[in-house]
Amino acid sequence: MGNIPDVIIHKHDVVIVGAGGAGLRAALEASKVVNTAVITQVFPTRSHTVSAQGGIAATLGNMEPDNWLWHMFDTVKGSDYLGDQDAIEFMCRMAPEIVIELEHMGMPFSRIENGKIFQRRFGGHTREFGKDAIQRTCAAADRTGHAMLHTLYEQCVKNQVIFYNEFFAIDLIMNEDHVVGVLAWDIVNGGFHIFHAKATMFATGGYGRCYKTTSNAHICTGDGLGITLRAGLPVEDLEFVQFHPTGIYGVGNLITEGARGEGGYLINKDGERFMKRYAPTVMDLASRDVVSRAIAEEIRNGRGCGPKGDYVLLKLDHIGANVINERLPGIWELTYVFAGIDCTKEPIPVVPTCHYCMGGIPTNYYAEVVVGNMEQPETPVKGFYAAGECACVSIHGANRLGSNSLLDIMVFGKVGGQKMAEFAESLPEHVPLPENPGKDGIERVIGLLNSTGKERMGPIWEELKESMDYNCSVFRTEETLVKQKAIINELWKRFQNIGIDDKSRVYNLDLVETLELENMLTYSKAIVEGALARTESRGAHYRDDYPKRDDVNWLKHTLAYLEEDGSIRLDYKPVRLKPLTVPPFEPKERVY
Ligand SMILES: Cc1cc2nc3c(=O)[nH]c(=O)nc-3n(C[C@H](O)[C@H](O)[C@H](O)COP(=O)(O)OP(=O)(O)OC[C@H]3O[C@@H](n4cnc5c(N)ncnc54)[C@H](O)[C@@H]3O)c2cc1C
Repeated sequence: MGNIPDVIIHKHDVVIVGAGGAGLRAALEASKVVNTAVITQVFPTRSHTVSAQGGIAATLGNMEPDNWLWHMFDTVKGSDYLGDQDAIEFMCRMAPEIVIELEHMGMPFSRIENGKIFQRRFGGHTREFGKDAIQRTCAAADRTGHAMLHTLYEQCVKNQVIFYNEFFAIDLIMNEDHVVGVLAWDIVNGGFHIFHAKATMFATGGYGRCYKTTSNAHICTGDGLGITLRAGLPVEDLEFVQFHPTGIYGVGNLITEGARGEGGYLINKDGERFMKRYAPTVMDLASRDVVSRAIAEEIRNGRGCGPKGDYVLLKLDHIGANVINERLPGIWELTYVFAGIDCTKEPIPVVPTCHYCMGGIPTNYYAEVVVGNMEQPETPVKGFYAAGECACVSIHGANRLGSNSLLDIMVFGKVGGQKMAEFAESLPEHVPLPENPGKDGIERVIGLLNSTGKERMGPIWEELKESMDYNCSVFRTEETLVKQKAIINELWKRFQNIGIDDKSRVYNLDLVETLELENMLTYSKAIVEGALARTESRGAHYRDDYPKRDDVNWLKHTLAYLEEDGSIRLDYKPVRLKPLTVPPFEPKERVY
């Protein structure tokens, strides 16, 4: 490829990077009002949302009485008090409306006999402020994300959203302090594209691929975070990485919590239902951090199964082949394909697997990206929005409850779409592009295509994943984190001497994956620095050397900035502990 690239410029009112649930829900809303485009690395219905299994939480009360205040209580408690309570209230109150809207769009939910949406139990969701587990999670069998994503894509096509499929976002474009679009690479044909927008949203999904054992799809490389850091903006609470208790041993694929919701339970090598020792009331349906640590404890204390004693068993066979076939058909298939096990007959070997990223790009509950700290109140970054797993609202705080993420992506996708449309309409015209827009990103890509560096993406990525698994996982200590920091710095140095073998323009995945690796190395530093500084245990962040939660010093959000020399600077901001409305008040009857 030549040295001087053609750069094609596109102009839209709203540009959304990412076509998962968050991106599509935002696009659907914005496209009702303004010209809206979506850029996505993979075809929209291949986004990771498609693999969400268990369901979406909403207090519909179809199976038993429920109200949003209990949902809010569970979410605040589940977040280990790090969640922002105004945002949590906002989400829980909107949940029933959001699910009914999906139903009216045609999403094929599972039904109960009276025709209403089926709801199942999920970890951490309770009635009457923790009294007992409740059936709150609305499901389409164990393929809820699949049903959701296809429904939304259909609606977006109907609304004439413009899709740029298989385009890879490289950098944010800013003019002074205003975000004016993104630079992207056309994966199919090669070449640079600039998307000039009045409002730009990141909905780029999670960052689990920097771990080796993970339930996340190959595209969950957290590009939005790497790009945000490079643009000089902060990321929030990255040290809170959720490990789902039940990944298939050896591969990491997820067995939904819905399996335990349907009556499945965990046993150790003695056949003991060990969760009764860790969470006597809700047992196997305790929140994910609790169950993951319990499994890790069993394994550490020699009660794991198998020749190496390094997994436990999830027993499902007792719930009956009928229930499994009707409610968990995808789980049957996954375990059969990936573990060679028929779960109607045998228990499934499981270990905790990296699953969800609580941290992300800081936003308020309008999905506006915000900056601020302990002294400075938050202010929005003009023209920049984020929603979904790449954002940190912060709903999930230190630990997300199962089925709250599909809800989060719907609620803040929708609100973000509305806010972007309002903002775009309020601007008479586009804020101009800066001089040489996307210059740095274009130079980096050309540099890679021309480079003769000796290092390769594969081995560096492999080392990053393995070491993150080892040093920055369910348990962390100062020693493992200091070690991990040194490893990432070393990998970062090696990355400066990287070369790629494929020099072509067309479908150059060598190039795309190298750009992904650059993003991963960038934000992995922020994960480790945040975890090292946080000398307490809270939610998914468990420091063996500081096993207690420390509200006096650490009831605050971490912010990480990328410095010019490649190091990370940490800052903090307060947790918003004040709900929108002040109790006591009567939860309203549902009107549907
Ligand atoms: C196996 C599994 C099961 C789950 N089950 C549940 C569940 O039952 N209930 C629940 O609430 N949550 C569940 N979750 C979590 C939930 O599914 C996710 O948090 C959520 O779907 C994320 O949606 P999203 O829209 O933010 O991102 P995604 O769906 O991950 O989409 C990201 C989008 O960004 C695009 N993108 C990324 N980088 C770039 C780039 N550089 N350039 C262009 N485009 C880019 C991708 O193409 C994609 O379209 C599950 C997660 C997993 C992994």
